[in-house]
Amino acid sequence: MNKGILLYAEVNKSNYVQPVFFELASKAQKLAEKIDNCPVMALIITKEGNTQNFKEGFEKFGIDEVYVVEDDRLENYTTEFYSKVALDEIKKIKPAIILIGATTQGRDLAPRLASELHAGLTADCIELDINEKGQLAATRPTFDGQLMATILSKSDIQMATVRENVFKPMEHDTPKQTEYIYDKAEIYGLYERVKILNFAKGIEKERNKLLDAKIIISGGKGMKTAKGFELLKEFADTLGAEVGASRGATDIGIAPKNMQIGQTGITVSPKIYIACGISGAIQHIVGMENSDKIFAINIDENAPIFEHADYGIVGDVFEILPKLIGELK
Ligand SMILES: Cc1cc2nc3c(=O)[nH]c(=O)nc-3n(C[C@H](O)[C@H](O)[C@H](O)COP(=O)(O)OP(=O)(O)OC[C@H]3O[C@@H](n4cnc5c(N)ncnc54)[C@H](O)[C@@H]3O)c2cc1C
Repeated sequence: MNKGILLYAEVNKSNYVQPVFFELASKAQKLAEKIDNCPVMALIITKEGNTQNFKEGFEKFGIDEVYVVEDDRLENYTTEFYSKVALDEIKKIKPAIILIGATTQGRDLAPRLASELHAGLTADCIELDINEKGQLAATRPTFDGQLMATILSKSDIQMATVRENVFKPMEHDTPKQTEYIYDKAEIYGLYERVKILNFAKGIEKERNKLLDAKIIISGGKGMKTAKGFELLKEFADTLGAEVGASRGATDIGIAPKNMQIGQTGITVSPKIYIACGISGAIQHIVGMENSDKIFAINIDENAPIFEHADYGIVGDVFEILPKLIGELK
């Protein structure tokens, strides 16, 4: 009988474990509580001696067991080598659930593993839970984002890839006594279809400030014009906040695309999220519902955003915001 939750700890090119791993680790602890406190395990595949650098993270994030395969031939990700090594380990570990970050690498590795393991894989999830039968209930957008589907898998191993930034990483107060299990990579003679000759440094994209913002003031179509967004900027400046937007606002060109929060934009999880003139469509909600406290200002008292808000003000943003800014100043 398969047991436990296995997380794939992806080491990226800058030689740190992808942040999504720690987000998954925190969520996995909660899932494990619902399956008789089963172990939360990690699999790391990396170059010789490298795991040492990440032990503190594994311990702080409460990982019970880490399965380590180190080999200098595994310094760079290649589908053939990594999937062979991961499969060998998974067959030994026999986990019930495998969770992988929906990064470029995760999206390449997961389907290959799922196919070899005959495991059901739900890709690009935005929520995970355990149902009353102890099965993984993995939720993802479907029908072009019009609906959310919760998908169960009948296979012994249930797999999901999960979007970055949907769960909050939470360190444990007392680090875990993590056990490390080392194994050898069985990759001799394996045909390598892709040979990495060189890594050329691309143009570094600046990280979107909304991803790390503690306070976000977000505007929707209800802000009406680009000038309306200037009011949000003024409000944001009084709070040291960043300005975000709904697709309603970016579609009519009153806010730039890189500000868009939601299913086809970015996912954020600030301490405070203030939605101004945003109706609260599900595609927007999935990008901000993990905020600690949600405030909404909307002229329509029946706007769906109020169902998700901790605090709401029914009224005209153009009357309320100047008053708030005045008070804050
Ligand atoms: C596949 C797909 C992906 C999508 N992805 C995203 C996404 O990533 N992010 C996203 O946000 N949306 C996304 N959408 C669009 C989404 O369905 C909504 O259409 C969009 O979120 C609506 O934006 P809005 O709330 O700004 O506009 P509206 O729905 O038009 O709402 C405007 C709100 O402003 C209020 N208002 C008007 N005037 C005032 C005023 N003076 N004072 C106060 N309130 C006022 C109104 O009462 C209303 O509630 C997606 C849709 C699809 C189909």
